[in-house]
Amino acid sequence: MSRIAFIGLGTMGRHMAARLLAAGHAVQAHDTRPEAVAELAAQGAVPAASVAEAVAGADAAILMLPDTPQVEEVVLGPGGLAATPPAGKLVIDMSTIAAGAARRFAEVLAAQGVEMVDAPVSGGPQGAESGGLSIMAGGTAAGFAAAAPLLAVMGTTIRHLGPAGAGQTVKACNQLVCAMNLQAICEALALGRAAGLDLDLLREALLGGSAGSWMLQNLGPKMIAGDASAGFRIGLKLKDLRLAGELAFGLGVPLPGLALATSLYLEARAHGEDGNGNQGLFRVYDRMTNQRQDNA
Ligand code: NAD
Repeated sequence: MSRIAFIGLGTMGRHMAARLLAAGHAVQAHDTRPEAVAELAAQGAVPAASVAEAVAGADAAILMLPDTPQVEEVVLGPGGLAATPPAGKLVIDMSTIAAGAARRFAEVLAAQGVEMVDAPVSGGPQGAESGGLSIMAGGTAAGFAAAAPLLAVMGTTIRHLGPAGAGQTVKACNQLVCAMNLQAICEALALGRAAGLDLDLLREALLGGSAGSWMLQNLGPKMIAGDASAGFRIGLKLKDLRLAGELAFGLGVPLPGLALATSLYLEARAHGEDGNGNQGLFRVYDRMTNQRQDNA
């Protein structure tokens, strides 16, 4: 069993760290929010007040942080992983960040003999809690081989997709599909609602055929109930769409669907919805159609 530094104990990380604990690993848990550290400590983790304290004697460090700047701070900042790498010389970043930044961090750590694997995930808090995440990994073959037993505790679909940054690139593709799928569901529900359909029956019918999807299965009921609770926050979704857009712009790839979905999420942000779950995109359609779901 390994000793793991787990950094970032939010909506996703708290479940992932708990799974590592349940699997018998020792977890040294750090977050800038002391209450998040206390919650993990109550489940058996060793509380760590800093990154350096978390990695002391650790076989690996796992990060689950919001965005590129937070990962940069933890990797390259004062007292960060580049200054004090884990003894086992393995860093697994499961946050969703820029692919170029993932490559840069991996290069800095490689210069010190430390493997860094980018391993962003899909599957939401439910997947994090059940160990059913899809994990998209980039890094060297040796880094992936070292990370794989830990990733297997958190995910069921685990793919090594190429060198450093490849996991983040695939995650950007994942997020385009999710955003446009959710938008398509919003449009079907808006049309069905205007036509006076029972939206639960509409959803069931769509789920039974080729329009079925994870989004419709898991977020459809919340959309129909007017429940915008997070889940995956609109603020993080916009971050992911920005990352995908920057990647596409850099490569000169036109993605008109991504541009439209981004505009719709920006409309939600303009209405103060950054903290709502991404199924709150349906509230944009509420506004456009001047109709509301109950409880919305
Ligand atoms: P979150 O904001 O709930 O959790 C992030 C945690 O990191 C917070 O507890 C925060 O206090 C902590 N943190 C921030 N800066 C820190 C620092 N410098 N040092 C230590 N701790 C710090 O976010 P989340 O929903 O758990 O998502 C984490 C990552 O996973 C994001 O990149 C997100 O895009 C991605 N993701 C989220 C979901 C989801 O459904 N929530 C699904 C797939 C992927």
